[in-house]
Amino acid sequence: MKANWKSSISVRFNGGMLVILVTLFIMTGLSLWMMDKFNVLSSQISQKLVPELSKASDLHLAIKNVHRKMDALKHVQSKAGNRVLVQELIDQLQQISIAIDSISIDKYSQLMAAMTKELMPIVNSYSLEVDGFITHKNELRKQTELLDKYYLGQLLSLKDQQTDSAGELNQIYTSARSLADQKTSFLFKNTANNILKTISHLKAKQAQNSSNSFFDVIINPQNGIIATLEKQNEITVNLSVLQTQTNVIIEQLIAISFDKVNIVKALVKDGTQQLNSTSANFTKALVSIVLFTTLFTLSFMYVFHRSVTKRLMLIANSLGVKEDQEALRHETQSTSEISIIARSILKYIARNEQQNAEIKANVKQLMLIIENSNQAVIIYSEDKIVYCNHYCEQLLDVNAMSNTDIISQNLLIAINTMTYKDRLKVGPYIFRFFATDIDWDGKQSTLALLIDITIEVKKENQLMKTLELVKDESLTDTLTGLYNRRKLELFIEQQIDMEYALIIADIDWFKAFNDFYGHAEGDVCITKVAMAIKESLRTDDDLAVRYGGEEFLILLVNSNMSQAELVADRIQSIIYKFDIKHEKSKFNHLSLSLGIAHSSEIAGDNWQALFEIADKRLYQAKENGRARIVSTGERISFPIEKPPVND
Ligand code: GH3
Ligand code: MG
Ligand code: MG
Repeated sequence: MKANWKSSISVRFNGGMLVILVTLFIMTGLSLWMMDKFNVLSSQISQKLVPELSKASDLHLAIKNVHRKMDALKHVQSKAGNRVLVQELIDQLQQISIAIDSISIDKYSQLMAAMTKELMPIVNSYSLEVDGFITHKNELRKQTELLDKYYLGQLLSLKDQQTDSAGELNQIYTSARSLADQKTSFLFKNTANNILKTISHLKAKQAQNSSNSFFDVIINPQNGIIATLEKQNEITVNLSVLQTQTNVIIEQLIAISFDKVNIVKALVKDGTQQLNSTSANFTKALVSIVLFTTLFTLSFMYVFHRSVTKRLMLIANSLGVKEDQEALRHETQSTSEISIIARSILKYIARNEQQNAEIKANVKQLMLIIENSNQAVIIYSEDKIVYCNHYCEQLLDVNAMSNTDIISQNLLIAINTMTYKDRLKVGPYIFRFFATDIDWDGKQSTLALLIDITIEVKKENQLMKTLELVKDESLTDTLTGLYNRRKLELFIEQQIDMEYALIIADIDWFKAFNDFYGHAEGDVCITKVAMAIKESLRTDDDLAVRYGGEEFLILLVNSNMSQAELVADRIQSIIYKFDIKHEKSKFNHLSLSLGIAHSSEIAGDNWQALFEIADKRLYQAKENGRARIVSTGERISFPIEKPPVND
């Protein structure tokens, strides 16, 4: 039957799997694409940022360095040191210029270039001012040394004059020294005026003619202390101006370089933001995919549960529960696979019910047969008889659930060992017994079958007895009770590989006995001889045979020759004791002639050869006069010395 594609499990299942696969492919593709995007973005940012950052930081460092050196310039103590520092500064500025050139031309680099150019002449003039400062400082030192020298000369020339003039001179000297030491001071002008005033006052008081070099050192308008200090002050002011100018320019340079850093910072911020937003998008996309897939899988599972699992569970339940089979019938309406399965199951249930009914009927029949069987059936489990049929109940007087104490011990052993027994005696009955392992209501149990063969066994015993009787008769001689020739033949066939002795005995002149005493008396005589032979035998293993009419054969098992001779002697003496008259005998008594042979005299088990030896020796005994024994030697144990009645 063709299944409706809409309700087809396989189509639904395969469709679902396909969707999951496609989703997985899309997810993987999306992840790869986003990772690629990420990589491109971050490499772009780093390509842009790294050189910019390094340039900006180099520039920033260089500017800081310039600033430090400008500060140091003021404190240089020698002209040579001043020149070196200025040269270094110019080199530094040129490097900054080159660095600015390598930056792409924009407003920033133009500004930077302008600033650097502006800084160059300031550095040069700074150098000149510092040079002048150093020159004037040296000059001042020389003049103060001169002042010291001339001061002593002036004091000596004033020796005889008034002490207040000496005091004024001393004041001039002290002020000039302090002015030279002060270098620059807001008191400079005031002090300088005081010195000039005191000099003119002193000059007015006493005519100074000799040497004006003392005052010249102080007030010389070209290179006196005051003039030198004025020049020096001027330079200090200039340096201060230059300082202000350079500070302004350097601050501008620093600001510009910071701007650049800020630009780079902004670039970094932009890149980071871009990366962050891409990353956030990526996370969102992944979360959505995971959510979507989870939702889809759950829905798919729910739909699968509703449309397949639940219905299959119904089918499974219906196998055991009758009420659910009604619900199952509704499932058979469509053309889906589940409907096909449902129909098959209903068919199976119907067929199963029919088969169950058949089985029940068969079981009933079987139970009837078992119950009425003449075999005893026992099922035995955990020391209890759990089932026994009617026949068994009657025979053994047991019931189902009887304890094992009721059963006879040998039956219990047979059940437990689970064997086959040809004969098992239980009370007065004999059974053929068979037991095997079976499962009975889920328990390991033993099934035992007992077939009553009591009557058969009795019949068989009787038959066996009869058989034994017949067997004995066929092998014994009826007159004497000795074995006959057939027994001898059987015996010879069975007895192989053993030591034995053979005696052949024959009644002497028996024909004459018969003739004289009659045949019946002859039979009695034969019987007596047989008795003598029987008496002389030691064990039942030895065999005594009536071989011919009045001939006897004795087989002695496990006997040597001398033992055989003793037996022969005994036979002769018993016969003698019987005292059987034989008037026709030479000895007046019944006597035997005996020939003996031993198995050691022949090779192998050639019975015929041994017989011939014994027979030959019997013949010899007859020949030698009868009533004697011939073996390897000859012996006469019969009292033949008694003279015969007639010859
Ligand atoms: P020998 O000393 O040489 O043996 O002389 P013998 O007369 O005994 O000779 P033999 O052994 O040949 O005699 C056999 C006789 O035994 C013949 C027969 O009359 C007798 N005889 C054989 N069978 C029976 C039997 O069953 N009953 C009786 N009464 N006589 C038998
Ligand atoms: Mg004979
Ligand atoms: Mg004889």
